[in-house]
Amino acid sequence: SDHLNNPQQVGYIKNINDNPNWYDTPFKRLPEMYIYSIFHDENNVTWIGGSELIYRYDPDKDNLEYDSQYNTLIRKVTINQDSIIFSGTQHYDKTTKSYKQSGIPEIEFKNNTILFYFSAVEYSDKKNHKFQHYLVGYDKKWSSFSDISFKEYTNLPKGNYTFRVKAINTYGCESTEAFYQFVILTPWYSSILAYVIYVILFIVLFILTVKLNIKRLKAHNKHLEKLVKERTSEITQQKEEISTQAENLLKANEELEKLSIAVSKTDNAIVIMDAKGNFEWVNDGFTRLYNLTFDEFITKRGKNILDCSSNPNIKEELHKCIYEKETISYEFFYLTESNKKVWTQTTITPILDDKNEVIRLIAIDSDITDVKLAENEILQKNEEILAQKDELEKHRFHLEKLVKERTTDLEKAKEKAEESDRLKSSFLANMSHEIRTPMNAIVGFTNLLNDPEISPAQREELSKLVIHNSDTLLRLIDDIIDIAKLESGQLVIEKQNFDLNNLLVKKFKIFNENNQLINKGHLALKFNNKTNNEQFIIYSDPLRIQQILSNLINNALKYTDQGFVEFGYKPEVHHKKPVITFYVKDTGIGLSGEQQKIIFSRFTKVEDNKKKLYRGAGLGLAISKNIVELLGGNIWVESETGKGSVFYFTITL
Ligand code: ADP
Repeated sequence: SDHLNNPQQVGYIKNINDNPNWYDTPFKRLPEMYIYSIFHDENNVTWIGGSELIYRYDPDKDNLEYDSQYNTLIRKVTINQDSIIFSGTQHYDKTTKSYKQSGIPEIEFKNNTILFYFSAVEYSDKKNHKFQHYLVGYDKKWSSFSDISFKEYTNLPKGNYTFRVKAINTYGCESTEAFYQFVILTPWYSSILAYVIYVILFIVLFILTVKLNIKRLKAHNKHLEKLVKERTSEITQQKEEISTQAENLLKANEELEKLSIAVSKTDNAIVIMDAKGNFEWVNDGFTRLYNLTFDEFITKRGKNILDCSSNPNIKEELHKCIYEKETISYEFFYLTESNKKVWTQTTITPILDDKNEVIRLIAIDSDITDVKLAENEILQKNEEILAQKDELEKHRFHLEKLVKERTTDLEKAKEKAEESDRLKSSFLANMSHEIRTPMNAIVGFTNLLNDPEISPAQREELSKLVIHNSDTLLRLIDDIIDIAKLESGQLVIEKQNFDLNNLLVKKFKIFNENNQLINKGHLALKFNNKTNNEQFIIYSDPLRIQQILSNLINNALKYTDQGFVEFGYKPEVHHKKPVITFYVKDTGIGLSGEQQKIIFSRFTKVEDNKKKLYRGAGLGLAISKNIVELLGGNIWVESETGKGSVFYFTITL
């Protein structure tokens, strides 16, 4: 049956000291096994058959002392696995009934691995001992029983130890205890000296750390001090900057206050405009000057300066201010609501930003009405004074002119008187010469005519010369008479119809003959007769025309040595009137511009002493001029020195 499986439960009731008791001790040595059968035979022997063995139990022979005393011994103790420190030499103490140890070994800490070998000393059944051990000072309690007969401890700490061991046999009987005392010495690093050294080291380390720390702290402190200094100086500087800024601000503020007082109290109108001339702000002076508040002004006159300025040039002025960034200034008047004229002087200044762009315009208008009025008054006065001055000046000028005129008149009169005087004496001197020359010739040649020895040819020649000189004298006398007549206005023009061509052709013939007489035969005298000898009847004074032409042709011949003398006429219409223009052209000595001016005056004779002496009284051209004028015409000359002259004269019909 199942309960037989447990050998501990095999037993029987036995009277011990006359008391029935469960007795199982002899069966404790049975191994663990299945018990298949128990047989009690006739010999009082009990047989127990099991899976392992058959057990024979004879109660009569069961006299074993199951609880007899036996010992457990420590056989060997080794340290560090090889050195034996004990090999079973213990003595048995009878009083304690145990083996005693002789001396307690001291084991160095480094050898703190210890191995115990032990065994039980009993002769009954050695095999089935179980051991229990207890290291006092290390284990907390006894170990459980086991078959193992050794025990190792490793890494035991320092201290006093007692290794105790005991055995129990199959029948549950315990042996005596075996002891083994030993000491594990303190390790060097746990010794007092070591601790002292530790302390010292610690102190040294501590001091070092402290010192290092102090050093570090000092350095840090220094750094901090430096930082603090720097910061302090920075802060001081900042403080100074701030205080200067504050001062500047204060000054600026004061300045601003003053400015704001000035701006609000001034009688000038101040206007701030944007960059296009739109009003943004005006001061109180503006209202005082224009008698309108800002809002009233804007509603009545406009928001932009271009709309409300009465200056007609405002557009150009503003353009200059905005685009050329120039301050402009102009004066103009403004009509107030009550139609009063207020003169203002306006200055517009452009305000520029960093980029040189116009951001604002500031206009300042000052009332200059009083100044303007005073100025106008002064201007008016000035004008009056100027007018007076002008008048005076004119007067003075007039007087001066008068004086000058009178003076020149007087001078002229004086010069004239002197000139007449001079001319008169020169005329007289000249005249006496001019008269004497032909007179001498006439007288001389006439005397010669009386000479009986001269030939008839010579006589004729002489008489011709007498006639020529008489003619010259006669002409001179005629001239003088003419001049006298002209002076007294007695020269009469006798007009009649006559053939001009016939007259001129006759004249031409006479001249040609005369020419030979005055040794000018080599000079060609031409009559430019364009009318082909047809009759050209005109109504004029033929004698006077003849006289003028004679004068001019005579002069031309007189003042020409080589070349020709040509004369002619041309009927023309001047100013719707019929006119005849006569001309006498020569290739003679010519006249300078200066000479041309004077030759038509009385008694003027151009004298050039260095060259040839020309005879003449200087009357011919003066007489001709007078007669031409009486005939309703003009006389003039076109000439150049050395190249000849052309004398023209006209007569009106
Ligand atoms: P005169 O009797 O001296 O010729 P005129 O009155 O006829 O007086 O002329 C005045 C002057 O004008 C002359 O003295 C002469 O110098 C100058 N004159 C006149 N005709 C000519 C001419 N054809 N060529 C150059 N000079 C001339």
